[in-house]
Amino acid sequence: MVTTKTKVRPKPFLFPQFCKACGRCIDACPKHCIEIGDGIDPMTGFAPITVDLEVCNGCGLCYSACPEPYGLMATPPEADGIDMVVTDPYSVFGPRTTTTPTAETIPDRHVPMPSLEPLVLKGNHAAAIGALLAGCRHFFGYPITPSTEGAELMARLLPELNGVFVQAVSEVATANMMYGCGGAGLRCMTFTSSPGFSLMLEAISYMIGAEIPGVFVNLMRGGPGLGNIGPEQSDIKLVCRGLGHGNTHALVLAPSNPQEMLDLTMEAFDLAFRYRNPVVVVGDGYLGQVTGRVTLPEFLVQPGLPDWAVYGDAAHRGNLHTSIWLNEPDLEAHNVHLNDKYRRMIEQEQRSESFHCDDADWLVIACNTPARMTKGAVQSLRRRGLKVGLFRPITLWPFPIDALLPLLDRKRGLIVVEAGPGQLEDELRLALSHAGMGSHPPIDRVQHYGGVLPQQQEIVDHIAGLAEASHG
Ligand code: SF4
Ligand code: SF4
Repeated sequence: MVTTKTKVRPKPFLFPQFCKACGRCIDACPKHCIEIGDGIDPMTGFAPITVDLEVCNGCGLCYSACPEPYGLMATPPEADGIDMVVTDPYSVFGPRTTTTPTAETIPDRHVPMPSLEPLVLKGNHAAAIGALLAGCRHFFGYPITPSTEGAELMARLLPELNGVFVQAVSEVATANMMYGCGGAGLRCMTFTSSPGFSLMLEAISYMIGAEIPGVFVNLMRGGPGLGNIGPEQSDIKLVCRGLGHGNTHALVLAPSNPQEMLDLTMEAFDLAFRYRNPVVVVGDGYLGQVTGRVTLPEFLVQPGLPDWAVYGDAAHRGNLHTSIWLNEPDLEAHNVHLNDKYRRMIEQEQRSESFHCDDADWLVIACNTPARMTKGAVQSLRRRGLKVGLFRPITLWPFPIDALLPLLDRKRGLIVVEAGPGQLEDELRLALSHAGMGSHPPIDRVQHYGGVLPQQQEIVDHIAGLAEASHG
């Protein structure tokens, strides 16, 4: 008697977490034994298919229809107990071997400066001198009006100070050089302006992700696009809300005169290293060009070296900076860490100036050059008997909401004066909303764009008109 062996064809096998519920296998199955299941997979949020294996004849057509590399397949003999879910790379590659760093932080030193007569400096030059006094000896940049004089002065002075000046091939290269230099624990900076700053955003996101300090001085100009070289506050949205991809923030300092261009640029280095994060000093183009009285500080900084630096010696071997975290839970934990840092910045670094705010009926919010015009307008309006005050954010991120909130009682209106399309007003509204201020005094505005600055007299006229209308 002749017996024939029937070969048993394997039935389908599926890891539910790899099924995207596309339904292709359902269409392919001649036995109509596949259907979308009614349970949601907890890992994917999709409803994976179910197969009626009693009806299935093992033809295999569904395997080839499935677009998922680890989707439907023939049941492997060892299917029982197999764990295809790999969440820990160590289980594949083994533990990462590193050398434990042995470096200790060398602290910065403050060296007293001799008392000097005040200087008259252009804003860009003042910022460059602030950087040098902060111990910055590394500059990377690509020239762009109206910031170029800052880079020119650094090019002239850094070689005499054993420093390094590199004119990079582009702003993209500039910011990536800063990534490397800051990662070595060294103080570095650039001068740029709006279109150039836009090009730096990708690397700024890398720097924030890898916690690398660096100072970006951005003299904003008319936009959008190449716009012009006039002064505009066109990047407030970018520096406060758009520093490249991902969960990014940086302290944003907004000087309003050449003295603050020096002081805030100098302080920016301290903040960048304190928080291990880029810091942006943001001024309008006019502020880079205008000259003003500048008093030099009482000390200069001799930078130390942080223990985390990738410095290229034995003590720092094993230090590593990266913004890539391939394991999802690790990246989530890193973002929680960054959020904690942002929270500390919000709590500890809000800065502002209040000018005649306490008894004011009308509060004007302005920063950079428009704040100077507004101050003159406030004085003029007070001479007319109108109680007007100026609230000037010095940090744009974080917005100094803690100092503003107590000033809002009994105010008849807020007026935002800006050389831009409402980006400062948006920051104000966002800060009020985050502070739970559903109802606040009405917000009005004086705006110009394209390199045109608000003028003192029009601010006076605008607020006088508001006051008259509210009486009428
Ligand atoms: S092996 Fe053939 S019969 Fe079985 S589920 Fe797949 S397509 Fe349908
Ligand atoms: S073809 Fe693959 S991914 Fe699509 S429903 Fe079927 S098993 Fe799921």
